[in-house]
Order: sequence, then structure tokens, then C-alpha cells
Amino acid sequence: MLQIETWWLFALPIVFALGWVGARWDMRLEKREDEIERLAQQKSTFKGLNLLLNEEPDKAIDALVQIAKLDPETSELHFALGSLFRRRGETERAIRVHQHLANREDLPSRHRDHAAYELGRDFLRAGLLDRAETSLNQVSPQSKYGIPAKESLLEMYQVEKDWSKAIVASQELEVLQGIGRQKEIAHFHCELAEEALRRKDLAGANQHIVAAMQAIPAHPRAIMLQGDCLLAQQQLTQAIEIWSLIAKNHPAYLHLVANRWIEAHQQLGQAQKGLQVLIDALQTQAGGELLDITFKHVMNLQGVPQAEALMTEVMRHTPSLSAMALRAQARLTMAEVAQDEKAAQEFKASLNLLKQRTNTLARYTCGNCGFRARRFYWQCPGCNHWESYSPRRGEGAAPSGPAM
Ligand SMILES: [Zn+2]
Repeated sequence: MLQIETWWLFALPIVFALGWVGARWDMRLEKREDEIERLAQQKSTFKGLNLLLNEEPDKAIDALVQIAKLDPETSELHFALGSLFRRRGETERAIRVHQHLANREDLPSRHRDHAAYELGRDFLRAGLLDRAETSLNQVSPQSKYGIPAKESLLEMYQVEKDWSKAIVASQELEVLQGIGRQKEIAHFHCELAEEALRRKDLAGANQHIVAAMQAIPAHPRAIMLQGDCLLAQQQLTQAIEIWSLIAKNHPAYLHLVANRWIEAHQQLGQAQKGLQVLIDALQTQAGGELLDITFKHVMNLQGVPQAEALMTEVMRHTPSLSAMALRAQARLTMAEVAQDEKAAQEFKASLNLLKQRTNTLARYTCGNCGFRARRFYWQCPGCNHWESYSPRRGEGAAPSGPAM
């Protein structure tokens, strides 16, 4: 009995030693398997890159999908590939790559958020707005891609002119980013008020005007719309009263309401009184469109000599090509009325020259992207920024930037 126990004492270290050797053997085997897998991945990566470089992106995707199956961490490679396709304008391929990533349940949620965001941008690029909206809405707001996804949605809603959804997206972004977006929200409400006015829904228009004023008190666009709303209800005196606030507090925007201002005064039999306000405003606002509008109404309501005298005065305090052209126009009409052929020829020649210049130079310019436009926009058609146009039309030399 004692002998057997002693034998066991000798046998135990041997058993342990065998176990240790076995474990080492297993580890080595495992290591080798890992090594083989790593080499396979490396091979697939190089194969994928090679196919990519050889302009065989379809096969490259297959090769890279193979790597992603072996190791989920390589999803970064897929994202890079998807962005590459989108940048090259191959939206369909970008969608395929990102769709594959978005559908993979095994990926961590941050990768799936990233994939949903990229997929949304692919759909936006392809003009598939409904699908873009669905994808972008799948991105968790708390993720790294929450803010960019919401910004993309906001951009999309503005392109679609879905102002109600734009308001909600702006408010959500305000919370996520902790910065105010009142200016945009005020304009979205103004857009909705304009839409309501077009379909004669005055109560709806009023509601949005109030909301715009809540976002930015005394916003000139909201004030103008308030006047338009009163005009639509034939409350002319009240409309004029409201628009007076523009003349008083925001004279640079007066040209936007000047024609309706004169119409309302005409209906009340107070055309001269209304016109005088525009003439007075020219003291400080003669550099822009208000000059054209006031000139037109002075010609109609007071007469050509008065219009000529007004432009001569403007040329004294605010000389501009526009004022010079309008004065030439008044002088030409006077010469034609007086049947002075020689003078008429002379004014016609200078008027043509001046008109050529003012037609090409008189533009509103976006302070953000430099986009130049013949008419005033609250939102730049070039860069989509709000209120980036100065309400003053310039006559400066045309820069090489975009124009319409
Ligand atoms: Zn712009």
C-alpha cells in the first residue's frame, strides 16, 4: 500500500509535466491558426487594394467583404471604401458598401450609427430623399454621428422646402449642440407664413408670424408679412402702420415692401404721402433698389421733371451709375416730349451705355460665399445661408465668383 503511494508521488510530477506540454502544444497550435488567419486577412487586404488600384472596384468589394467576415474591426476599411465611391460619384456602389455595414448585426452600435449616417448621405447624393430621411433618422442622436445626421436632415428639409420638419430638426439641434438657431427658425416660420398667405389661410399665416417674432422679436421679414396679412384683409391703415416700422427701424429693407406700400396709400387716396416717405428714405438708402422703385413712382405720380430733379439731387449726395442712368432716362423722356431730336439721341446713347453697366454690375452679394444675384434673397441660393445677403444692392466690379 505504502509502495503504491510512493509510486504515485513519482507519477504526479510526470502527469503535470505531460499536461503542461499538452497545454503548450495547444497554445502553439492556436497561435499558428491565428497566424494563418492573420496572413489570410493580410492577403485579402492586399488583394482588395490591388483590385481597387486596378480599377476593379466590384471585385475589390468582394475581397474586402471577405476581410470584414474574418475580422469585424476591418469595417473601417469599408467606410473608407464607401466614402471613396461616393466622392467619385459612384453612389450605387457607396450605397452597397454602407448598406452591407448597416445590416451587420454583429457590428458595435457606433459602427452601425456611422453606417446609417453614411448611407443617408449616399441616398441624399442619389436624390432618394425618403430613404435618406429613414437612414439618417436611424442614427442615435447621442452617437458621434448624431449631430452631423441631424444637420444633413435639416439641409434636406430646406431643399425640400419642408419647413415644419426643418423647425423640428433645428430645435433638436439646438438641444444637441447647445447653440441657438433662432434666425433660421424665424425664417422657417416666415416661409410657412408666406405659404399660408398664398393659400389665403390668414389665421395660419398669423400663427407663424407670431412664432417668427417669438424667435426673433421685430424681425423685418416678419413685420413685412404682418403688413401683408393685414393688406390681405383690406386693413390698409393698419398695414401701413406696421410697414412704417420698416421705414423707421429697418430702412435698408424698405425696397422689399415699397411697391405694396405705395399701392396701399393709393387705395386710401394718400399716394403723395406714401411717396414722400420713400423720397425721404433716399437720403440714406439711395444706393440700392429703393432708388429704382421710388423713381418709377415719382415718374407716374408726380411727373418726369420731378423725377429728373430727384435724381439730380441724389447724384449730389449719393452718386451712382443707377442714379445717373435714371436721370438720363428722365431727361430722354423730357427731350422726347419736347420733340428735341438731338438731345433725345444724346440721352439715348448715354442711357444705353449706363444700362449695360448697371445691368451687369447691380447685384446683391452673399457675404458668405460671394454668390451674386439680381434680386434679393433671404436664403442664399449658392450656399443656403440665411440672411447672408446685404439688403443693399451693390454696383461694385463683378468678382469672379458665381452669379445669376
Ligand atoms: Zn452664399
